[in-house]
Amino acid sequence: MSERLFNFSAGPATLPLEVIERVKADLPVFQDTGASVLEISHRSAAFANVLEEAESAIRDLLKVPSGYKVLFLQGGASTQFAMIPLNFLAGTGKTADYINVGTWAAKAIKEAKRAGAVHVAFNGEPEGYSRMPRQDELNLSPNAAYVHMTSNETIQGIQFPTEPETGNVPLVCDSSSDFMCRPTDISKYGLLYAGAQKNMGPAGVTMVIISDEMIERVPADQYSMLSYAVQAAKGSTFNTPPAFAIYVVGLVAKWLRDTVGGLEAIHALNRRKAQLLYDAIDGSGGYYRGHAALDSRSLMNVTWTMENSDLEVALIRGAAEHGLMSLKGHRSVGGLRASIYNAMPIEGIEALVSYMAEFQRTHG
Ligand code: PMP
Repeated sequence: MSERLFNFSAGPATLPLEVIERVKADLPVFQDTGASVLEISHRSAAFANVLEEAESAIRDLLKVPSGYKVLFLQGGASTQFAMIPLNFLAGTGKTADYINVGTWAAKAIKEAKRAGAVHVAFNGEPEGYSRMPRQDELNLSPNAAYVHMTSNETIQGIQFPTEPETGNVPLVCDSSSDFMCRPTDISKYGLLYAGAQKNMGPAGVTMVIISDEMIERVPADQYSMLSYAVQAAKGSTFNTPPAFAIYVVGLVAKWLRDTVGGLEAIHALNRRKAQLLYDAIDGSGGYYRGHAALDSRSLMNVTWTMENSDLEVALIRGAAEHGLMSLKGHRSVGGLRASIYNAMPIEGIEALVSYMAEFQRTHG
């Protein structure tokens, strides 16, 4: 098959066609370097410029305040699950608060427990991770090392409407599946991280936005690759960085800034897209059933089930025949999931909801 389909994959996920075309145009020779981005030194002036442009587009979009570093690290968001407690919890004698709202938060907790004392400030598991907590449900420790949240749970399809208040305790956020989907006030965070492969680019690079105060807390004897202080001091080039992935992240960030018009514009579009799909679910008279509580519905990952799993399988198969790929829900939730990240055009959602209506007519 040579045609591009509407791709609802949770990650690696669809990228803007414009970016894919740019990548293609930059192969096999990038600018005047005589080679492709895949082949040039990470110490070259051309790559230094790629890195600088990626960082400055991210800074522009999120209005990152001075006093914060933007890092491009490796090992995925999963390595952040370990790096965060290793840098800010181990050896402090303090407790770290974790908000357990889904599969990824639970994995972060598991890793943190290896490094020190963890207090679960909210546990959404008994309710099937179907909603985010209200502020008054958070049982925060007064003197925690940090509070860890997951702004969007990719598998369950739930998203914090806004960040919780944590007073003087630094807020640390896994924003892997909703990074740059809406304006975000970075000054509220001590550290915010996101694997690129959903909203920002290919797998292989993880963005970390970290305050200077957090960097000052990093133990001096931390392993270099695991030290935010070393990574910041070396401008993300302590070792060979994932150069190609950073280059693509830069293109996606520039697309968001210059073509889409920034985070307010993408947020408005994301709301329209999500509304279209949730309206189709809610308007089906119970044929389609949303997994997330209304006030926690994700703009990025829409999850729903049907009365029986045979119908779900038939819908997924039929959708694929209509050019709508990767709608199967994660095995832990079942049902269906449409990941509708920034790069999913509204036409993809329109095609999906019209197929869902047709399916209900013919199978309902
Ligand atoms: N956190 C969230 C919210 C995720 O969705 C994922 C990946 N699906 C991860 C963490 C893990 O990311 P990685 O595969 O980059 O380690």
